[in-house]
Amino acid sequence: MPLFVNMRHLEAGNVRLQGELPADELDIDARDDVVRANQPLHYDLDVQELEDALLLQGHLRLVLDCLCVRCLKPLKYSLDLKPWACHIPLEGEDQAPVVNDCVDLTPFVREDILLEFPRHPLCNPECRGLPGVSAGKAKQTGRIDRTEAGSPAWSELNKLKL
Ligand SMILES: [Zn+2]
Repeated sequence: MPLFVNMRHLEAGNVRLQGELPADELDIDARDDVVRANQPLHYDLDVQELEDALLLQGHLRLVLDCLCVRCLKPLKYSLDLKPWACHIPLEGEDQAPVVNDCVDLTPFVREDILLEFPRHPLCNPECRGLPGVSAGKAKQTGRIDRTEAGSPAWSELNKLKL
């Protein structure tokens, strides 16, 4: 189920939204190979209608599949936005579209989730990286360059499995 709120329901008072938003619906554009959103987003929100806006308050939780940027070990990163609040304008330039009395809340959730993505996930703050790979060696093989060009972490991991 997509994350919609029906304006008609809000006429009677605040609306509580609880459930899961599948990864497909959340549709996170994973620009970073070391962080992936494959699991559903859990949400528990209270929606309030203000004069010309909606106010969302509650809790968002999403478990991300990450790779340690130093040793490429897979790890889970639990992203908890609690308390989370969001102001959605219904008038003016940035107003959210209302289609069939419904407002799609997904873009607002997606935006805030992306802001909280870990930049450099680590399996352990003390992680020293792959054994046997010194900085000097990495430079000689051009590994540093490729990392800067677009994080080859997943392909590196595949090589390790061979
Ligand atoms: Zn590590």
